Amino acid sequence: MALIFAVTFCVIWQRDRTRTSNLALGLGWLMLSCAMLISQLSPAHLGRVLVAITHVPYTLAAVGLCSGILLRVGVTPPIRAFLGIGVAGLLTMMLTQSIGESIKADLLITNITSGVMMVMTTQSFAQTGKRDGIERFMLVTLILVTAQFFIRPVLAFMFDDTIAAEQYRESAYYMTLAWLFGFGSVLFGLAQLAASVKDQINALHRRNATDDLSGLLARGEFEVQVAEALSRATSKGVSVSLIIGDIDHFKKINDIWGHQVGDHAIAGFGAMIGRTIRACDIAGRVGGEEFCVLVWDVDEGNSMGLAERLRKNANLLEIEGGSLDVRLTASFGVALRDGDESYRSLFARADKALYEAKSGGRDRVASSASAVEAHQDASPAPTGTQHAA
Ligand code: GH3
Ligand code: MG
Ligand code: MG
Repeated sequence: MALIFAVTFCVIWQRDRTRTSNLALGLGWLMLSCAMLISQLSPAHLGRVLVAITHVPYTLAAVGLCSGILLRVGVTPPIRAFLGIGVAGLLTMMLTQSIGESIKADLLITNITSGVMMVMTTQSFAQTGKRDGIERFMLVTLILVTAQFFIRPVLAFMFDDTIAAEQYRESAYYMTLAWLFGFGSVLFGLAQLAASVKDQINALHRRNATDDLSGLLARGEFEVQVAEALSRATSKGVSVSLIIGDIDHFKKINDIWGHQVGDHAIAGFGAMIGRTIRACDIAGRVGGEEFCVLVWDVDEGNSMGLAERLRKNANLLEIEGGSLDVRLTASFGVALRDGDESYRSLFARADKALYEAKSGGRDRVASSASAVEAHQDASPAPTGTQHAA
């Protein structure tokens, strides 16, 4: 099982080498399987020497596993302290062996060595405060595995007061170790695997959720978040609006300066939107050069004001690779949500307003919500701002 975990974590690490926690876990499990193989396959007459020999891979296994667990949650593992504890354990064991203490002393030392590292790891992990189901599973297994390093030797010694070094592998201690360690290890490995799979899924989700070019939400994620926001807005009675912005004559930018400059324009425009809106607003890239903002807790005037700021900021953008005297312009359509109106209907109204802004001459803001007003009151719209009919 330990070997399977070792291979699994190394394969996971190979797929994404930035996650060194998986490498540490893979090496930790490899060391653990080495330690288990050595203690199982080496000749029985080695006795206490065997405990000292396996102390090294067991300690390295604990260093690898503890480091992997901590690295995963963004904590720098105290590797030097871990190694220091391991060396101190080995030296103490050599000392007790030289003064002829029983094998129990060796077993206590080797357990306490790993146990202390596990205590440090569990404490640091608990302090990170991450608490979804999988992290709780991880914390519980950490506590159980840590506790068994202290409880197991004491329990085993209660039933086995004298362990002859040569019969170590037939002792009750060794049986308890084998079963508890086997069961605990599988649980421990599964918790790490579950956490690693969760990390991979989250990373994949983040990659799909964000639009690489603009840094804003990708269309799918934008629509998911807007759907959630709209139902929250309905239940809390908060009024929201939708702004659609579209870069003017973008095809020309591509044609004149090339696709790469076009990409820089999209990136700059997206970043500008991100800087201009508030944290409670939701922004996404919904088409090639088309962006959407769901504005939280606003009235008609505020929405138009924000769209106007976005329009002005777009004019000020300097596009990498493009000429300074040719400025980017964009048109915006704004729709204030009507009651518990659906996203589809809200989007259609904002899109219609955008169309009006385009046909009205571009580089302007048009509002859908004011359409009725605009009809009734034929007064001219403010500069750069149009009301859609
Ligand atoms: P309008 O003012 O009416 O919006 O005209 P436009 O040229 O901006 O609009 P149109 O929809 O005709 O053209 C949009 C262009 O955007 C066409 C497409 O090649 C380009 N485009 C879409 N996605 C990308 C992209 O990711 N990078 C670049 N460089 N261009 C893109
Ligand atoms: Mg366009
Ligand atoms: Mg377009």
